[in-house]
Amino acid sequence: MMQVKKGMNLNDIKENNRLSILRLLATHKMMSRAELARHTGLTKMTLSNLIQEMIAENLVAESQQLSDDYQTGRKPVLLMISPESFCICGVLIRRDRLTLVTGDLAGNIIDKQCVDYPQELNNESLAALISEHYLNLIKRTSRPIIGIGVSSIGPLDEIRGLLLHPPEFGDVSNFDAVGILKGLTHSPVFLINDANAAALAEKLYGTGKNIENYLYIHLMNGIGAGLVLNGKMHTGNIGQSGEIGHTSINFEGPLCACGSRGCLDYYTNIHNLRKRITALRELNLSSQLLQQTMPSLTDIIDAAHRQDPLAVCVLDEFCRFLTWSLTNALALIDSDFIIVGYEHNVPGDFIEETLIRNISRSPGFNENRQVKIVHSVFGSSAPLVGAIAIVSENIFNGNIKL
Ligand SMILES: [Zn+2]
Repeated sequence: MMQVKKGMNLNDIKENNRLSILRLLATHKMMSRAELARHTGLTKMTLSNLIQEMIAENLVAESQQLSDDYQTGRKPVLLMISPESFCICGVLIRRDRLTLVTGDLAGNIIDKQCVDYPQELNNESLAALISEHYLNLIKRTSRPIIGIGVSSIGPLDEIRGLLLHPPEFGDVSNFDAVGILKGLTHSPVFLINDANAAALAEKLYGTGKNIENYLYIHLMNGIGAGLVLNGKMHTGNIGQSGEIGHTSINFEGPLCACGSRGCLDYYTNIHNLRKRITALRELNLSSQLLQQTMPSLTDIIDAAHRQDPLAVCVLDEFCRFLTWSLTNALALIDSDFIIVGYEHNVPGDFIEETLIRNISRSPGFNENRQVKIVHSVFGSSAPLVGAIAIVSENIFNGNIKL
């Protein structure tokens, strides 16, 4: 239940109560009126009136499913976000492809479209691709689009809505992702870094729901991170927080592409992992990794899952480097909780288990602390769900009027 702030009038209070109900239904999927009353602190009468109004507006619906949460008598009806309410458009700009979805306030994906980039990728061709597929996607739904969330590889300037100069991403530079979509719609458009988006998806709809402080790390061919502090997404001044890849773990180390020395990214990016595979080849000359000219992080994790000694050794080293950065980050934010997400779905928990072991044994790590490191519940889709989540979050905060 929201605290009543000084200067609020009755309409503001009512709107806050409606948003609290929507947030609860969206993040818990279904709730009975009694559960909603318990969570919001509203009287049965007030709650019932608000629900009736929201059902009439197609925001909330009664589910066919009945609640098991009852003492005696008739099972209470469960409420949910209406399947006829507005929808949200999510756009994910990854290095290898573009994905557009429509989804709902509860983070469910309704429709999805994946597109490959053209050979010549630049600002013009990317703008044309986004416009074409956004217009295709919205043609397929009769529900109004309330907002668009763009989750993207960085670096970004979230305030100005720009992709600055993502490495290894054609000639795309200072790309106005927000401006292009704003030209096609009257709905608000938000830009968020992919790792931050994934951390927010976990906060609203996933494992992070009841965790106040945690770090989300996104393992791709490099490493990104998103931070949730005091129950809120921490994006920083222009959305560049969580750049864990370019924090140094060896200040006398080799020069990184960013100009600094001994960055985590230098040791853990895919180019270095491939070099290590070649250097350590004697460990398993029949390793499938040696048959591939450009194994990806997913290929290495797959091989480690099959107990390939070469992959296990390369990933052990990878986790050792990562441990230094994560131990520092956990100390900085005073948390013991990390969620790990991947660019592609990977089997098992090799990385999570290795990191727990390493961090727990780190010098200076208090033995009474219990570090928890878990695989993202959304698999490789966390940044995509995050594109929906950034719009939902702005609705719950009252920044988008319903
Ligand atoms: Zn660097």
